[in-house]
Amino acid sequence: MAEKIQAVKGMNDILPPESARWEWFEDVVRKLMRRYAYLNVRVPIVEPTPLFVRGLGEVTDIVEKEMYSFTDSLNGDALTLRPEGTAGVVRAAIEHSLLYDGGKRLFYIGPMFRHERPQRGRYRQFHQVGVEALGLAGPDVDAEVMLMCRALWRDLGLTDVRLEINSLGQPAERQAHRSALVTYLEQHSEQLDADAQRRLHSNPLRILDTKNPAMQALVEGAPVLMDYLGEASLAHFDAVRAVLDAAGQPYRINPRLVRGMAYYNLTVIEWVTDRLGAQGTVCGGGRYDGLIELIGGKPAPAVGWGMGIERVLDLLQQSGIEVPVVAPDVYAVVPSAAALPAAMALAEDLRAAGVAVLLHAAGKDGPGSMKAQFKKADASGARHALVFGADELAQGLVAVKPLRDPASVQTTRPLSAAAAWAHELLNA
Ligand code: ATP
Ligand code: MG
Repeated sequence: MAEKIQAVKGMNDILPPESARWEWFEDVVRKLMRRYAYLNVRVPIVEPTPLFVRGLGEVTDIVEKEMYSFTDSLNGDALTLRPEGTAGVVRAAIEHSLLYDGGKRLFYIGPMFRHERPQRGRYRQFHQVGVEALGLAGPDVDAEVMLMCRALWRDLGLTDVRLEINSLGQPAERQAHRSALVTYLEQHSEQLDADAQRRLHSNPLRILDTKNPAMQALVEGAPVLMDYLGEASLAHFDAVRAVLDAAGQPYRINPRLVRGMAYYNLTVIEWVTDRLGAQGTVCGGGRYDGLIELIGGKPAPAVGWGMGIERVLDLLQQSGIEVPVVAPDVYAVVPSAAALPAAMALAEDLRAAGVAVLLHAAGKDGPGSMKAQFKKADASGARHALVFGADELAQGLVAVKPLRDPASVQTTRPLSAAAAWAHELLNA
């Protein structure tokens, strides 16, 4: 045998039955998006590298060390597998003038790529659902995207997710805070770890996000950005809070919530849980009013979030939430090869009427014993077996045998009028 080829480390196959959980989640998401009138966008997985370097910021974790970047060997273009969804959606919105007639509410679902150390909740190919409300400046929209998440948790049956918010203010306010922060950190430089030393002048705000326990005390005592916000920024934050309060959505103001990408301003948000160990952030986002201009568009405000699907599915599992099982409605038992044409013809009629039919596949030696077929019918989860016995077929009939309900009895139905009785096979 030839040598086996394995998947790339940190990139997962999603196979049945696990894939049914994904489809269910995506269905719930799509219904949610419809209720909030967010429209689907699908942008390429590969983008020009400068989109992310410029959009996310050169001194972010993603751009510094997590991007899958490569040179197109045919034309020398610098390309990158998208590490996040926002930059690509914004690029597309600019390229296709989506904002010419006002704001747009959009969502995406798809794979993202980051070269990180694979561990629970952290993969090299992972999936996000994200929303982007483009061209909309009001604090109501910040609150709207947060409340969408609350609705999603409710639709999924999740209760263990908490909202944390903060305001990063505007660039000038951040600059003033940054100077104070750098001064403070320089005064305590002996307590900085190597990462923090490196970031001290490139991205000091990120130091506040450190996971190093040895630096917690230092971080606790650091100047707080909120104290540097001007009136307009504070008013925006208060307006967001007023909506959350009115809607009865609890939140914690986390002054150390800064987020990884450089593009955020004003409101930043995270939804966190204690049930996933170190990777407890299931969703993160915020306002990014500068990004559209930064990547070449006419200045326009925007707000959105990205959610890690693997983490949400893990959380569903941790929370003991059962996802509806996908099983066929019927399993077609075919006693002999001679019955196959009639069985397949009926299966087509039933499928046309909306019934999910799993037809026993005959091997090259015929369909196999009835016992083996019924075993498979049971394992399939189908509620009914259709049995294409020779006697019934000769009378133009098929036997319908209930597999799950011991109280109901076997009946026969005409082959010719499937549409008239197909509904009996569907879930009540
Ligand atoms: P973290 O701090 O966990 O690295 P992040 O700030 O890099 O997260 P974002 O860029 O904000 O994450 O992405 C939004 C969401 O996508 C995260 O909250 C998380 O749920 C998910 N996510 C991010 N990176 C990964 C990954 N490598 N594998 C799985 N999910 C991820
Ligand atoms: Mg990260």
